[in-house]
Amino acid sequence: MSKTMKDATQNVLVIDDETGLRDMLAFGLTDRGYRVVAAASGEEGLEKAKHEKFDLVVSDIMMPGIGGVEVLKGIKEIQPEAEVIMATGYATLETAVESMKQGAFDYIPKPYGLDQLCVIFDKALERRSLRAKVGHLEEMNRLKSEFLANMSHELRTPMNAIIGYSSLLLDKVYGEISPKQEQGIKRIDTNAKNLLQLINNILDLSKLAAGRMSLFVEPCDLKDITEEVLGTMDCLARERKLTLTSDVSEPILLRTDKTKLKQVLINLIGNAIKFTHQGGVSIKAEALTGPSRVRLYVQDTGIGIKDEDLPLVFEEFKQLDASPTREYGGTGLGLSITKKIVELFGGAIQVKSAVGVGSTFTVTLPMESMAVPDEIPVSKAPEGVQNNQKVILSIDDDPEVLALLADSLQGTGFKFVGAQSGQEGLALARQIHPHAVTLDIMMPHMDGWSVLQLLKNDPALRSIPVFIISIMENKALGFSLGVTDYIVKPFDRKELLAKLKNCDKGAPHKVLVVDDDPAITRLFEGDLKQEGYRVAIAHNGEEALTEMSKEKPDIVFLDLMMPQISGFEVLEAIDKDPSLDGMRVFAMTAKHLTPQETQYLEQRVEMIVQKGSRSLEEIFSLLKEKLHAVKEAAAR
Ligand code: ADP
Repeated sequence: MSKTMKDATQNVLVIDDETGLRDMLAFGLTDRGYRVVAAASGEEGLEKAKHEKFDLVVSDIMMPGIGGVEVLKGIKEIQPEAEVIMATGYATLETAVESMKQGAFDYIPKPYGLDQLCVIFDKALERRSLRAKVGHLEEMNRLKSEFLANMSHELRTPMNAIIGYSSLLLDKVYGEISPKQEQGIKRIDTNAKNLLQLINNILDLSKLAAGRMSLFVEPCDLKDITEEVLGTMDCLARERKLTLTSDVSEPILLRTDKTKLKQVLINLIGNAIKFTHQGGVSIKAEALTGPSRVRLYVQDTGIGIKDEDLPLVFEEFKQLDASPTREYGGTGLGLSITKKIVELFGGAIQVKSAVGVGSTFTVTLPMESMAVPDEIPVSKAPEGVQNNQKVILSIDDDPEVLALLADSLQGTGFKFVGAQSGQEGLALARQIHPHAVTLDIMMPHMDGWSVLQLLKNDPALRSIPVFIISIMENKALGFSLGVTDYIVKPFDRKELLAKLKNCDKGAPHKVLVVDDDPAITRLFEGDLKQEGYRVAIAHNGEEALTEMSKEKPDIVFLDLMMPQISGFEVLEAIDKDPSLDGMRVFAMTAKHLTPQETQYLEQRVEMIVQKGSRSLEEIFSLLKEKLHAVKEAAAR
């Protein structure tokens, strides 16, 4: 008896048009402890698979009706985890190979015996259980990374508040403090900063592990970067009476992620200072050719690392002195993060060391690193956004602000999606059509004004309410570019929520139908009113302008060919009137448009419907479909 069968009775589906073989398998396999269901054709087999779960399927390839390969595809669709074994005659060997490509576990040449089949069954079941274990482990790993990422993210906001308030206390913003209080607050501050560093490290590590760490590649000069890092680390070295020198005196131009490269250098120099008692730390850089790379050395005259410990230093949480009495602080995460970042750059890191003499960490980087899209990959962000959820898309380069906004929206019924750059924000806006956008102004690469202009020039995005959240107060410019509201940082949560709730009224309610054909206006009026829209009718351009000036409609269905004032002239009038901004216009025309007219219209209207080519009903149902899409998008 097979070893896997001990666990549970395995369900087998036998699909074969040969009655004798079916009976033999049904009898023999049942005898060996399997539960067997037989089907005389592919169709019958698939039908049975729809109603019952099978662990194993053995299917003939050549059958009248649908053949084995089709059956295999069908089974894999209905029950992907079932293992399928194909039974094949000599003539169908090629098909059997094809079946393997399609996901069959194995094939067995006909005629075959029960023992032969059971050996394959055992192997198939073993693979299945291994696959389930791997899947489970992968899922656990994913959950762990996700948990770490979420946890550290959640912890960062309160930590920032603790650090922020202790620094306000130390700055005596809230009044005088006694020396004893000052000492206490300084301790809070130092410890909070250490804790924040640890949280940031865990966040980085979990992002790196999940492949969610982004690289923003831009041109930069290694000389500037090292000078900046040395400036930051200099006081630490001086405190410990160590020298800190650099030989990077000439520009070395790279295309890389400046912030992450600084992080690498800070980690290495920080360690070098920490593990050195006398002498100092020096930085060297050299440009290599073919392929062009740069090599950076961080050398210290510190305690050094034993040969046998060298391979361990890059491991997560590894500290060479892990004893409770250990002399040096730290978490053992710095070097593993450093190594993973260097690898993300397409580079490598090495260490050479001699105990009591010192260590040299060498980082080799390509002159040009490949960009890795932002932490929230565009294709992933909309995951978890349910259809009926109202998404607020926040565009801000500061992750802290995004975290604060995400927190502020918790429990409000709005779903938060963040973007750390204008480009990413625009891509997300196109993809998820958010309920509203909050936009920062001062961002590198593409500032908020440019993002706003692009949003407002895109007919599909134009109607999304945009709230500027900025430290810069420039309301006039904001409003002239069509923003819904302007909020000055630091923002007040209540004010923000009130404003976002207010734009809930964004779903289209009022529709204006402009057409000189009474058949069209009547059709629209009756039907749309029934659906709860307020419908206004205008039989010519002049009436349309009067209607719009009375109350701005949300949607306009506009016929272009009308006597006296044409649709084009109505559009021009709309363009000139800022109070009509954000209205969505659908143009209808029986006229053949010139390329210039088409181009003009494409910039101004949501859709152009050619009347001549369709029946009235078709036009109407097309426009209604569009109207519903707009309403649904606004209601999200
Ligand atoms: P930690 O937070 O403990 O510094 P790291 O991952 O940065 O974590 O380093 C791991 C271990 O490698 C350290 O605990 C230390 O034992 C060793 N190490 C790292 N850099 C140096 C160095 N420059 N000299 C000596 N030992 C070092």
